[in-house]
Amino acid sequence: MFKRVLIANRGEIALRIMRACQELGIETVCVYSTADKDAPYLKLADRAICIGPPAARESYLNIARIIAAAEVADVDAIHPGYGFLSERPDFSAACRDCKIEFIGPSPEAMQMLGDKVDCKKTAKAAGVPVFPGSESAIEDEEEAVRIASKIGYPVIIKASAGGGGRGMKVCHNEATLRMQLRVAGQEALAAFGNGAVFIEKFLEHARHVEIQMLGDKHGNAVYLFERDCSLQRRHQKVVEEAPAPNIDRKRLEKVCESAAKMIRNARYAGAATCEFLLDGRGDFYMLEVNTRVQVEHPVTEMVTGVDIVQMSIRIAAGEKIPFKQNDLQVRGHAIECRICAEDPAHNFRPSAGRIDTWQVPGGLGVRLDSHVVPGYVVPTNYDSMIAKLIVHADSREQALDRAARALREFNVGPIKTTIPLHQRLIENTDFRRGGVDIHYLERLLKASDR
Ligand code: ADP
Repeated sequence: MFKRVLIANRGEIALRIMRACQELGIETVCVYSTADKDAPYLKLADRAICIGPPAARESYLNIARIIAAAEVADVDAIHPGYGFLSERPDFSAACRDCKIEFIGPSPEAMQMLGDKVDCKKTAKAAGVPVFPGSESAIEDEEEAVRIASKIGYPVIIKASAGGGGRGMKVCHNEATLRMQLRVAGQEALAAFGNGAVFIEKFLEHARHVEIQMLGDKHGNAVYLFERDCSLQRRHQKVVEEAPAPNIDRKRLEKVCESAAKMIRNARYAGAATCEFLLDGRGDFYMLEVNTRVQVEHPVTEMVTGVDIVQMSIRIAAGEKIPFKQNDLQVRGHAIECRICAEDPAHNFRPSAGRIDTWQVPGGLGVRLDSHVVPGYVVPTNYDSMIAKLIVHADSREQALDRAARALREFNVGPIKTTIPLHQRLIENTDFRRGGVDIHYLERLLKASDR
């Protein structure tokens, strides 16, 4: 096992990784930008190293500074968490060049699965269904128009290196497609450092179901079943749950098997998530693979009992996955609410600043993953998520009631948070019935605006 690990991230996921390391007897080194210099979780690390100013490209996205910190602290491995450098093959390669273990896939496996265009090719080769659309990055406008008229509108333009729901454009006709293509390439280049875009069929009614995977360096791969992440705003997940409600288990098994095939074919080592959209007719399509731990990994941990972050570290250290597919089963139901420092009453405008009141829920089946303490100041520079509230209970109905109870206990001020939105969603009869589609939340918010 590693002696010392550097955590190349911040906030709740930095703390989550630190907890996993400490339970494995590993020393932790946390890096931080000056915007996070007073963050309370840094005191829990064995060592904290400042890597630069608030702007992410000069700190959390700066490979040279992070590698320098790793060398100064003499670590054996780096855990990238999610976001920032977690899906950058050049970072995984830089770690390898410096003889530091990257806790995640090799640059080759990351490229094969993490790049959306390459991933669709990998899926096709494994016989996994993908959306009809362009086979590779779009080279010219006429080609895009030809493909779109063949597959039929609406189509969606996506950045090959995209993530976080950004850089996607839905086009309902040729004129918008032509116009948006020009914008999309430039935006992708600015946001992800890679201007490649592609198009695919846009599904109007679908559910987002993703499969948690683990692969090791000895060729073993298992799936930890599915999560349903259909409640989204601006293509970003708001609530996640496991298992997925109201879907035939046989149908889900097929999706799980497809995900396993992709991971095995790529000889993938680490934690990964294969994302799919399921339509109303019983068909499913692979969306993308995330080659890292995901924000919503705790719901899977709660229903399977597997510590996914610890597993990612043990796999990187060369251990075999210590269980077989048949050893795994789902127990009960788990739901996660992403709590963000945003004001849902004012179009989700950011609400950064000092948190004076921070009264957190507890009790049986309640887990709170958060780096916040009373007096914490939410910086304006990064993602607005300040906590993840996860509940677990025997049935979905009990989990919903538990979530409602926990949300009532959760008192945060004076900044605004998305807690009231979650309270509303947990009470919503369509959501309680189970099986809302990916555009449900946007429709709900639009209807209440009127
Ligand atoms: P990102 O990497 O930015 O998260 P994804 O490809 O995972 O992007 O897509 C995020 C969300 O965008 C999906 O869960 C879904 O709601 C929506 N989406 C993506 N592709 C399509 C599609 N072809 N049809 C309908 N919705 C889509």
